[in-house]
Amino acid sequence: MIDSTAILAKLNKDQKINYDKVLQKVIKTWLQANARPKILLHSCCAPCSTYSLAYLNEFADITIYFANSNIHPRAEYLRRELVQKQFIEAFNQKNGAEIQFLAAPYEPNQFIDMVQKNKLADEPEGGSRCAACFQMRLDIVAKKAEELGYDYFGSALTLSPKKDSGQINEIGLEVQRFFETKYLPSDFKKNNGYQKSIEMCKEYNVYRQCYCGCIFAAKRQEVDLKQVKKEAQAFVDKYGKTE
Ligand code: SF4
Ligand code: SF4
Repeated sequence: MIDSTAILAKLNKDQKINYDKVLQKVIKTWLQANARPKILLHSCCAPCSTYSLAYLNEFADITIYFANSNIHPRAEYLRRELVQKQFIEAFNQKNGAEIQFLAAPYEPNQFIDMVQKNKLADEPEGGSRCAACFQMRLDIVAKKAEELGYDYFGSALTLSPKKDSGQINEIGLEVQRFFETKYLPSDFKKNNGYQKSIEMCKEYNVYRQCYCGCIFAAKRQEVDLKQVKKEAQAFVDKYGKTE
């Protein structure tokens, strides 16, 4: 399977990279080789996975990897995991698809320690704490992809308009240097992807959270975490614990 760095190396270095175009070129090589690769795609809740799955499912076998020890509190983590699983089940049923789901262990102390050790707690959303957070999670995804023999690892988060897809792709490409599995670049918000994800969230009745996930961003945003915990716990009690 092609390594996207071969495509990136041919691009004009002075121009902003359109990672969706890079993905399209990667997909073209799969089609030419009549290949259907296996991709481990990271997602931190269902919304970003909606359109990303609809996009990639046509060309590849996808497993969503829920590796998000950044999410606080635990009940909210469990709710997002459940919603992600429910969406995949509904998507598979409706489209005759076979998207798989895997979850990493929830180890919030690992994330908190990383933030504190690097003095990133007061960083604004979109700053260096988020870069470190993406790197921590993409590292975990790449490791799992290599362990399970996937052709690529990638991220559904490039769909979010609140995330810098250039930054996520640069981190993914950096992470790939240390693993056998290749990083799959993307920019799922292109082609009206974000709007399509909103429509899919409505269609599948997908819960859309009001904060990114970590306690630091939630506090800065003055999110009522007690209320979040209460509602998340009620959801988990209703639909079942996943761990
Ligand atoms: S970036 Fe936001 S909306 Fe997208 S999967 Fe992560 S938490 Fe959900
Ligand atoms: S705001 Fe989101 S991406 Fe940034 S550190 Fe917190 S959980 Fe991670």
